[in-house]
Amino acid sequence: MEMRLKIGDREEALGFRDGFRFETAAEALGVSEADARFQGPLIVEGTLENTGGLFRVSGEILATRAFVCDRCLAEVEARERYPFTEDFHRDSAADDMDVNAFGEEGIDLAPLVRDVVIAAIPIRNLCRPDCKGLCPKCGADLNQDDCGCDREVVDPRLEVLKDLMMKEKSQG
Ligand SMILES: [Zn+2]
Ligand SMILES: [Zn+2]
Repeated sequence: MEMRLKIGDREEALGFRDGFRFETAAEALGVSEADARFQGPLIVEGTLENTGGLFRVSGEILATRAFVCDRCLAEVEARERYPFTEDFHRDSAADDMDVNAFGEEGIDLAPLVRDVVIAAIPIRNLCRPDCKGLCPKCGADLNQDDCGCDREVVDPRLEVLKDLMMKEKSQG
């Protein structure tokens, strides 16, 4: 799918500012399943702004990404947002190599979106920042509940509770 912003007379007016929204897919951007497992479309939402001499394209990409947590091995589907801001100017004025150029066909957002998505894929995947991971003894998911393995000092209050439960059982 084309993601192109036309730059015509309307856009050339100083102070021009307007929103845009595109839907694309990871495959269309050349992002493979090996890079990241995106679920459904990638939504590109942003604003095109004529800042005088330059066209500023800013916004964010909304994506749902599936991955396996590095610590607890849970399968996770996370909604993510990748912000971007990039300046463009016409080919004819292109002597600054740091700025993206565009021609008569307008601004093609596909390369920008692809770069932002690739850069946003983290090396480390966690289901949540404080994921407790798996018990090194029995492999239980410590986010769910404690397996009771002797990994740390037992809370004496839990010991009291255990005694009470045992008593109740024997009476019943
Ligand atoms: Zn986790
Ligand atoms: Zn355990």
